[in-house]
Parts: sequence; structure tokens; C-alpha cells
Amino acid sequence: MPGLAGSKMSTTVIAHLRDRQHAHLAELCEFLAIPSISMDPAHTADMAMAARWLADRLRGAGMSHTEIIPTSGHPIVFSEWLDAGPTAPTLLIYGHYDVQPADPVDAWHTPPFAPTASNGNLYARGASDDKGQVMAAVAALEAWLHATGRLPINVRLIVEGEEETSSVGLRHFVHSEADRLRCDAVLMVDSSMLTPQHPLILYGTRGNCYLEITVRGPASDLHSGTFGGAVENPFNVLVRLLASLQDGETRRVKVPGFYDRVRAMDDAERRLMASLPLSDAVLLAMTGAPALAGEAGFSAIERATIRPTLDIHGISGGFTGPGKKTVIPAQATAKLSMRLVPYQDPQDIAQRVTDFLHHQAPPTVSLNVRVLSASRPVLVDYRAAAVQAASQAFEQAFGAPAACMIGGGTLPIAADFQEALGAPLVITGFGLPDDNMHAPNEKLNLSCFFRGSEMIAHYLPMLAAFS
Ligand SMILES: [Zn+2]
Repeated sequence: MPGLAGSKMSTTVIAHLRDRQHAHLAELCEFLAIPSISMDPAHTADMAMAARWLADRLRGAGMSHTEIIPTSGHPIVFSEWLDAGPTAPTLLIYGHYDVQPADPVDAWHTPPFAPTASNGNLYARGASDDKGQVMAAVAALEAWLHATGRLPINVRLIVEGEEETSSVGLRHFVHSEADRLRCDAVLMVDSSMLTPQHPLILYGTRGNCYLEITVRGPASDLHSGTFGGAVENPFNVLVRLLASLQDGETRRVKVPGFYDRVRAMDDAERRLMASLPLSDAVLLAMTGAPALAGEAGFSAIERATIRPTLDIHGISGGFTGPGKKTVIPAQATAKLSMRLVPYQDPQDIAQRVTDFLHHQAPPTVSLNVRVLSASRPVLVDYRAAAVQAASQAFEQAFGAPAACMIGGGTLPIAADFQEALGAPLVITGFGLPDDNMHAPNEKLNLSCFFRGSEMIAHYLPMLAAFS
């Protein structure tokens, strides 16, 4: 919808949104008051209530078809408006209505499910992750439908209830019902800006390969005074195996073939990264560590986003209580994971690490390597029209175009969308790094919430103009 008529319509829609900010805030508070904690079976009824609340809200917004789709776990809320016609582009908007548990509840300054506005923020579990972001999208759709009677493009919306518990139902749905989700772009609103003035679009995410390594020795714990020196100590073996995975100097992973598929960054991307307000000094200040560390030859932000990693998360076995106990443990276990970058394959990496460890393990122990999870990395062409239009929509709403980077974290559902739908992903959001997502006192910056809905309202006609 380019041209004067289009921009006049956008102005009407933005005015509608601004008129109704108070109502949007009140609605968000209603949604946040439902404790939709997906991982706690005690909240199953709340999950159903949150799904119903959202579906009713979408019907009220004027979406033409809305339904609650059951899954093996919590239901999916699906909604669409396709009256822009078959030649207009279709946007799929993704978010989730489930939230993390509120523990530790004592650490909250206000009750987690009694939303409280204070100093320009709204405090509640799920405010930023992700109900506030979902409601920013709903407000934008409603503003178009109420103010102009239509949307500038076709829109499908899918809001799941299992994001915090691995998206099992949605991952199945995306692959088995890909036809119902057919689209030209996917807008995922479930992440953060760099600062309230710096919007951010992720043109990829790292994958993850999570392993549990167990070394078993004697049939039961032994006394080191009786058997020490005569049998293998599984803990000693485990520590040697773990140390063999990474070079202590360069911090490169020593598993053969680990870097074979790692994609090199081109000069344009290097410049994009260097332009981010995330210097080594800024990152150091965020960590509180004595110094930064990591793979030689890369800046800290490069190491945290476009380079693969290996991190040990925990080691258990033997004796760690107060005092001393001279035990030779029967077994020792470590948990470790590797963040993977395009085009590494998590199954391939799991196999290489397993082979590498088995090759070195002495015959005096038995070794077991279990893959606890494997998620693929995602890469989107940041020059794609859908991404560039989103950046311009941010400029309209926030006064600055979006910075682009690859996210260091992992979004398993993004890889499924990409594989099943073949459409470019726009991974973005209106949260802030200090929103306390997953922690006590989660908050949403209300200015980001209101401007986030304006960004989506601007995005719809821009996507039409770009296509
Ligand atoms: Zn989330």
C-alpha cells in the first residue's frame, strides 16, 4: 500500500493506537494476571484460561478466523486475516503466552501476577517475555482493523503455550501443518532491543548441542587408602577427558572436524558487528569478571555470537560435602554444551565429540556420552526485503533503524520455521536486556511496549510495498 493514501492510513492507525494506550495497558494487565506457567502441572487450567483469553481478544480485534488448537501439551492459539487477497504477501507473527515460574517469589518487590506500573515500567511475570510483546502485535492488528476495516497484507498469528518447555507441540504442528502457516515472512517477537534507543534484529541464532558424559569405574565407591593406586579413578579420567577437548592457550576446540563447517564472516558483516554498541569494554563491564577470555583472533562480541563455544556446566560424583572423605567414586558425570554457528550440524558435532572421547578413554573405565538436546543454528539473509522493511519500521516507530546481529542464544523453533516454511525470519522484540526475563521482578518498559505496537503497525504496509 505505497503512496499518499497508504501513509495517510498509517497516520490514522498510529493515532488510533495512541488514543488507546490506556486500554492496551489495562488489557495487558488482565492477561498477565493469569499465571500461565507451562512447566507446572498445577497451572494447566491457567494455561487453558490464558489461551481462551487471547483467542477472545483476537476475535474482538477483528481477526477473521481464530481457534485454539490442542497439542500433546498446552494448546496453540492460531488466528488469521487473509482478506488482502492471494497476491498480497502473508506475514506470520509468532509469540508465546506461557511464562516461567515466579520463584523465588520472596525476591519480588510486587506480586508476580498482580501487574504493577511504576516509573514507566510494568512489573509482572511474563510482562516482557512474552505477553507484552504478543499484546503489542495484537494492538497493532486491531488498530488497522478498527481504524481502516482491513489489514494492508494477509496476517497469520501463532502464539504457543510451550516456549518455556521446548515447544514440543508447536514443533510438531509446524512440520505436520506447514500448509496452514504458509507465509512470505515470519516475524518472531520474543527478544530484546540493545537499549530503548537501539532496536535490534537477529539475522540468525546459534544452535546448541548438550551432552552428558559419564565415566564408570569400580562397581561401588572404594576407599582410597585400600584401593588408591590399584584401580582407575573415574573422576581423574573424566577431568583428563574434559581437558582434552579445548586448547588452553588458543581456546580452540580440539575435536577433529569441529570447525569444518563454520561459516566465515564477510567484510560487510564484520562492519555490521563493529558498529554495534558492544565493545569489549562494554561486555567486560556487564560481566564483572576480572578480564574477558575466549578464542584467539576474535573480539568478545564475535566470540559470543558468530563463533562456536564449549562450556562445562557441572561436574558431579564423589564427595563434595564439608570436611573430607577419601573416596574413589564409582562414577563421575559432567554436563557440557557447545553453542554452534551456521553451518555446523548438532548431530554431526555430537558424533565427533563422542568419537573423540571414546578414542581416548582408557579400557579401565566405561564411558557413556548422552545427547540431551541438539538444536540447529539459524541464518537469515539480513539484506532480505522482510528484514530491511522491519528495520525501516523500527526507524518510524523508535527513531532509529535496527542494528543487525546474529544472536548468541538458541531459538529451536526458529530452525523449525525456517525448515518447514522456507520464509525469511525477522527475529526481534521490544524487551530490554535488563527486563529480568526468567528472574524476579520481570518488567516491561511501557514506552517500548507502545512503540513496539507502532513498529508492527508500520511494518504491515511496508512489507506490502517491499514485495
Ligand atoms: Zn520468550
